Amino acid sequence: MSFNSIKVYHRCGGCGKKQEFVNSGKFRVNANGNCIDVWLIYRCKKCKHSWNLTIYERIKPSKIDSEKYEMFLANDEDLASQFGNDISFLKRNNAEFK
Ligand SMILES: [Zn+2]
Repeated sequence: MSFNSIKVYHRCGGCGKKQEFVNSGKFRVNANGNCIDVWLIYRCKKCKHSWNLTIYERIKPSKIDSEKYEMFLANDEDLASQFGNDISFLKRNNAEFK
């Protein structure tokens, strides 16, 4: 299983230092009242500690394209790769690049 993603580094809460994180290809969708949060989950290459990268934060369901929403729920691999190669998305989440 490989998600052709840009290599990113982030301080790992498990290792206690900066590590390489890999795209898990899994999304996490959390519906809270009439707001939705969507994250893409990355994992520390060493200890598997997870790091959630925010895709949507407290967004109204009506603002999300329904086709895309289904793809989040289905952990669509192409969409996960797309985010994994999206520099502005990664930067927004304070990812570091070597
Ligand atoms: Zn770690």
